[in-house]
Amino acid sequence: MAVWLNYGYLTYWDKQVLKNYVYLLGMKNLATKKKMEKMHQHIQTGHLMNLLDDEAMWYHFEDYRFQDLLHLAYPYEIQVKFLNQGISNDPERNDKILAIFDDFFEIDYRKVLEEYKKSPQSQETKDTFVHSHEYHFDDIKDATKLFLDFVYDLFVDQWHEVEAIALREYMEEKLRVEYTAGISWSTVPDGDEIYIQLWNSTLTTLIHELVHAINRYFRYTYVGKNHSVCDDNLTKSNEGLANYVAHHFLKNIMSNDIDGVESANPDPLFFSMYIDIYADLQRYWSIDPKHNFDLVYQKMLEFEWDLLSDKKAKFYYERFYKFFHYEQHTHFYPKEMMYYLGYQWVRELFNASNNKKRLLVECLLWHVCL
Ligand SMILES: [Zn+2]
Repeated sequence: MAVWLNYGYLTYWDKQVLKNYVYLLGMKNLATKKKMEKMHQHIQTGHLMNLLDDEAMWYHFEDYRFQDLLHLAYPYEIQVKFLNQGISNDPERNDKILAIFDDFFEIDYRKVLEEYKKSPQSQETKDTFVHSHEYHFDDIKDATKLFLDFVYDLFVDQWHEVEAIALREYMEEKLRVEYTAGISWSTVPDGDEIYIQLWNSTLTTLIHELVHAINRYFRYTYVGKNHSVCDDNLTKSNEGLANYVAHHFLKNIMSNDIDGVESANPDPLFFSMYIDIYADLQRYWSIDPKHNFDLVYQKMLEFEWDLLSDKKAKFYYERFYKFFHYEQHTHFYPKEMMYYLGYQWVRELFNASNNKKRLLVECLLWHVCL
């Protein structure tokens, strides 16, 4: 089983542990007290650390660098966050972790954030982004059908009728869309069903998750003549397209206007609250984790209003500090930066294209490396 660079935690009472470590131990279900004790045992006996040290284990990881990463993050993720031990922040260790991210994501993390801080995304973009979340749907099934019909029609229009039929059959049989409190996400659980869990009823969120579901179908499940997909790394590239489609084609989707795709708005419409929160944490941080949590909370209120719960704010706070110590403000998990960078890159790709319908189909089929 591959150990992905995911951002999920498992929580037990007030304890949390990164799923990556749990996967590594080959334990998927820690929901009982007994299993929880087992987790402690694996830590105490050094079993977990041995796996992180063992060079022969590298092939269990989606990318060989993740083993080093989990090893370096062990004092923060296991000792501080799971065992509540008083381990101090280590700037040298932080730099090493960040160097892995820079290498993996092929970015200069500090440079990107410095540039962003100098030229923040405009208030106008932020207003447009917030406004786009005002399109709510009444019926989750109807809204899902609205988007999928748009995609089927688009595929047929672009001579991909075979893929359109296969996608329709698959989605009718396997797709499950439901509400859940907290965070929206899509996943492929044990079977081959695709679950989408939505915490709100906005079209942009639903479309975003459906793009993931379609992408994954064509990447992992669909077998068709001449169908070869780009073999890029999912951790790096899976957010840009979902955000671009949800924001730039929202009106086209709502009116099933396929040809309107060609005249998509070239201006930025998506606002990355993540990088904005990073920037604010760097500007206004303190040594007090509670203060930093409040910063995240206040910032998120600007986007979520009364939908923001303490639980959700905590989820994001943890997400930013993933792999790092709470008592620092310069190092954050840069996957969030990929929302910002990935969107810019996909927008440039579409702006440079004079056949956007074709490009959109190629992207959904994962023929294009994103
Ligand atoms: Zn997403």
